[in-house]
Amino acid sequence: MRLSQILFTQGFGTRRLCAGLVQHGEVRIGGQVVDDPEADFDPEGLVFEVGGQSWPYAEKALILLHKPAGFECSQKPKHHPSVLSLLPAPLRERGVQPIGRLDEDTTGLLLLTDDGSLIHKLTSPKHHVPKVYEARCKHALTEEAVAQLRHGVDLHEPGGRSEHVVAEGAEMADEHLLRLTLVEGKYHQVKRMVAAIGNRVEGLHRSRFGALALPADLAPGQWQWVPSPRAVWGD
Ligand code: URA
Repeated sequence: MRLSQILFTQGFGTRRLCAGLVQHGEVRIGGQVVDDPEADFDPEGLVFEVGGQSWPYAEKALILLHKPAGFECSQKPKHHPSVLSLLPAPLRERGVQPIGRLDEDTTGLLLLTDDGSLIHKLTSPKHHVPKVYEARCKHALTEEAVAQLRHGVDLHEPGGRSEHVVAEGAEMADEHLLRLTLVEGKYHQVKRMVAAIGNRVEGLHRSRFGALALPADLAPGQWQWVPSPRAVWGD
């Protein structure tokens, strides 16, 4: 594939802008400047540098972000900046969006991609992708209350329906810290489940999504590439 076309597919702007970046010596491959936009490369496994920053070629991007509090997952945020503002322009340009949503005040592991079918698979309750949350609760937890979450609680849904939801393996990490695993992603699900046992979430953090754990050395606001969706499924 032509180098300018590679940059175009990776979100570096219009074809003309991409050709300009190459001609102006902004692009390096293997440490060497390549200034011919027509230069031909096999994109598979290619790592290139633009303006000193290294980019792996990816047909579809999959990004793991440590979401800080105070950011909305929406593309059109109402009260706080969007999580997309934490990503560099080429990733925004190619249309990555969050896989499911975390509330504005929730922190932790958020995946983003420009692969629509992956979003569908990872958010569909059919696929039962487990997500692990740690909820700091206002009142001291009791074993009975936590057992209630494992057996399931009823959440009131719009239209007067109510839905029975369970939190497999819910456990007390300490007197005020609840750890629970959910396979669906209903609106405010953890907060509503904790409210259903007469408590209140004061801080919520997601530590795992499928087989992926939030890396301990990834600070809030930082992101990294996930090499393949297989890392999420654990195969
Ligand atoms: N459940 C919630 O209540 N909020 C989140 O952000 C995620 C799960």
